[in-house]
Amino acid sequence: MKTIIEPFRIKVVEPIELTTRQERESILREAHFNLFAIKAENVLIDLLTDSGTTAMSSEQWAAIMRGDESYAGARSFFRLCDSVREITGFDHILPTHQGRASERILFETIGVQGKIVPNNNHFDTTRANIEHCGGQALDLVIDEARDPQSRHPFKGNMDLDKLSALIEREGAERIPLCMVTITNNSGGGQPVSLANLRRVKELCHRHGIPFFLDACRFAENAFFIRKREKGLQDRSSRSIAREMFDLADGATISAKKDGLVNIGGLLLLRDHELIHQARNNLILTEGFPTYGGLAGRDLEALAQGLQEVLDERYLAYRIRTVEYLGEKLVEAGVPILEPPGGHAIYIDAKRFCPQIPPQHFPGQALAVGLYRIAGIRGVEIGSVMFGEGAHQSPMELVRLAMPRRVYTQSHIDYVIEAVTELYRLRSELRGLRITEAPPTLRHFSAKFEEL
Ligand SMILES: *Cc1c(COP(=O)(O)O)cnc(C)c1O
Repeated sequence: MKTIIEPFRIKVVEPIELTTRQERESILREAHFNLFAIKAENVLIDLLTDSGTTAMSSEQWAAIMRGDESYAGARSFFRLCDSVREITGFDHILPTHQGRASERILFETIGVQGKIVPNNNHFDTTRANIEHCGGQALDLVIDEARDPQSRHPFKGNMDLDKLSALIEREGAERIPLCMVTITNNSGGGQPVSLANLRRVKELCHRHGIPFFLDACRFAENAFFIRKREKGLQDRSSRSIAREMFDLADGATISAKKDGLVNIGGLLLLRDHELIHQARNNLILTEGFPTYGGLAGRDLEALAQGLQEVLDERYLAYRIRTVEYLGEKLVEAGVPILEPPGGHAIYIDAKRFCPQIPPQHFPGQALAVGLYRIAGIRGVEIGSVMFGEGAHQSPMELVRLAMPRRVYTQSHIDYVIEAVTELYRLRSELRGLRITEAPPTLRHFSAKFEEL
């Protein structure tokens, strides 16, 4: 059957804005062709990010009303502990305001100054926090991950030879922890296999190196394992998720993804000394350990969201939606990063509009074109984002990230029609020139002009 049944019905609706092409022309000009500068109300379908854009369930909204706002020892905190313990097996949890706070506390506590932290691919806040603490962030993903057309089922896997060579070369003392990001966000939302996680853990533990998960999309990764890894079809995503967490000495989590909430994060640890230090660090900047920078109601919504995200019907709908978008675009000849990841489709702008050279930002041109013709907002991940200074971006991509439980199949069909139409008109796409940019993280606020 072709129809994707959303496993929910809709109780609250939020109107979305239908602008005219002419209105969008002037909106684009006012925003200096930077889609971050456009008001969300002027976007018809917003695929800028899947982070914090979730729609909450009726059970979560009910949980919000049960939020205990006591400063210390709130009931909501213990409810969150129970939920996290059931799913991950971790007894000690530190709530944080979002994922990057968990990262900062972890790296400050464990100490990365002058040391190296390997990962399959570091997410940008993870890398930035390691570098801020004086460490070096190293990406050791398998080579297949760098080929946009490779259909390897676990393109997020860590390259064990590279990891082993690193340990050999630098010595285990210089590696305070090793991380694996599930799913691999910076590498296109690609999953990591359970076999790979097991081997990374074994290798790390043989050398006394703590093994950590960046587990933002743990449920999506577990679902991919169930679908793709040999011999695991009869397991539930829940039991696979538990096995992934059982391998780890700790985890950083942004609850804005698979926590199915709009704000929040978690830091999970096993080592008692580390927990003690991390908790003191948490008090310094986030808040008392039983709320950690969140309201009691946020803790409640997260406790519930973590349970809902492991529902097989939800995960099937979620992954199928992204896969469906990818399939239809491929059928229309649109070049995308394959296979589709868990949370987003990445259009390959280099192949989409080869007439535009990297210095004229093909990804930005594509993203601007998509907003212009259809009011859809994606994000450039290419030379605008990564091409500062002497750097060169390895790929020119436009990411269409899928908010959770927000859009229906007809919204996705509209996106497919719009991208297909833009592909037909691709020879008309024009490159851009930067007229003004800040010294760092320029993609958020740079101003452009069309050539
Ligand atoms: C979003 C994300 C983070 C950071 O989390 P925030 O909640 O945005 O601070 C870290 N790692 C990965 C893989 C992410 O996707």
